Amino acid sequence: MDTRVNLLELDLEGLAAFCAGLGEKRFRATQLYRWIHQRGASQFDAMTDLARSLRDKLATRAEVRALPVLSEHQSADGTVKWLFDVGGGNAVETVFIPEVDRGTLCVSSQAGCAVGCRFCSTGHQGFSRNLTTGEIVAQLWFAEHRLRAVRGRGDTGERRIDNVVMMGMGEPLQNYGALVPALRTMLDDHGYGLSRRRVTVSTSGVVPMIDRLRDDCPVALAVSLHAPDDALREHLVPLNRKYPLAELLAACQRYLDAAPRDFITFEYCMLDGVNDSPEQARALVALVQGRAEASRGVGAVRCKFNLIPFNPFPASGLLRSPRERVLAFAEVLQEAGIVTTIRKTRGDDIDAACGQLAGEVQDRTQARERMSQRRAVFEIVPQAPGAGAVRP
Ligand code: SAH
Ligand code: SF4
Repeated sequence: MDTRVNLLELDLEGLAAFCAGLGEKRFRATQLYRWIHQRGASQFDAMTDLARSLRDKLATRAEVRALPVLSEHQSADGTVKWLFDVGGGNAVETVFIPEVDRGTLCVSSQAGCAVGCRFCSTGHQGFSRNLTTGEIVAQLWFAEHRLRAVRGRGDTGERRIDNVVMMGMGEPLQNYGALVPALRTMLDDHGYGLSRRRVTVSTSGVVPMIDRLRDDCPVALAVSLHAPDDALREHLVPLNRKYPLAELLAACQRYLDAAPRDFITFEYCMLDGVNDSPEQARALVALVQGRAEASRGVGAVRCKFNLIPFNPFPASGLLRSPRERVLAFAEVLQEAGIVTTIRKTRGDDIDAACGQLAGEVQDRTQARERMSQRRAVFEIVPQAPGAGAVRP
């Protein structure tokens, strides 16, 4: 059995401890870490400023093990999507979204997801397993150095990826132990050197872990809200039964207490006739401005909204809100003084949205069957007239 340590699993502290075990000083760990993350090296022999004796030791005890790439698709708009093999018939995806002045990488944290949101194709696949720190970091390591190689900048060392969002497959806060060291490598000046505000953890609302993240590694936080009241949110995001809105918003406030200049990004997936009416937009304003849950001691939350046009897939039984309905919804929020953006749909031609391609690899735990049984309950949610619009 190969017992070599995969160095992608280690943040700088972990690597320093590993090197100490080899009798090496801390600055050697820093050099090694820079070779791996800043220069994309995976062969110890190429690390020419490390002593030959150290390179030999590393070759027998360690490796830089990337994830096997199952496919790479490039969209007409420059979006790139990779599908990585994580073993056991499981695959995860990573998406690079280029913009004029920056590049964003959307990273996965689990194979599948146990939360089971109705509108999410990852949720429909069920949960397979947590990714390790190394598997999370490997997505960034590969994407950054692959993009440098194929699009230039390989020599200058100038980076391609300026933002990382944990918005791929999985619920990052249900894989907390692996997530935090991965975040540290993203932030470390000797790693990817991304600023705290350019790394975003997106969560469906795992309240206790929001508090831990604030204490351990307070990166930017996005919270997937999707509904203005508990009844509807329970249907869409089953985790709401465990952590209802009042508790979730209180956790958001506590998060911001630690970072007074930050804000929460609330994500809201626009589902035709389900959560997209102007009344629901007004209820949402009351909620985040502290008027809906005031009796439970929940005040206003400093926030922005990101409205996401639903990416439809047949098993969901849901449709994307028509454009004019999204705009009207955004207007209500904006008039209440809340900065609101509507997410551009990118990479549509390569299905570069949550779990779309990996879903074809495997239905993990017969989750689809369980979902379709639950849909019977879901359909009692009143459908607004005009439901049935096609995607714009
Ligand atoms: N589990 C985390 C992060 C991954 S999902 C979370 O739920 O926040 C990232 C974002 O994509 C979430 O806001 C999620 O609600 C949204 N999403 C999932 N499926 C979608 C779909 N089919 N169309 C549009 N957005 C979707
Ligand atoms: Fe999991 Fe997020 Fe998908 Fe919900 S939206 S099932 S939490 S990945």
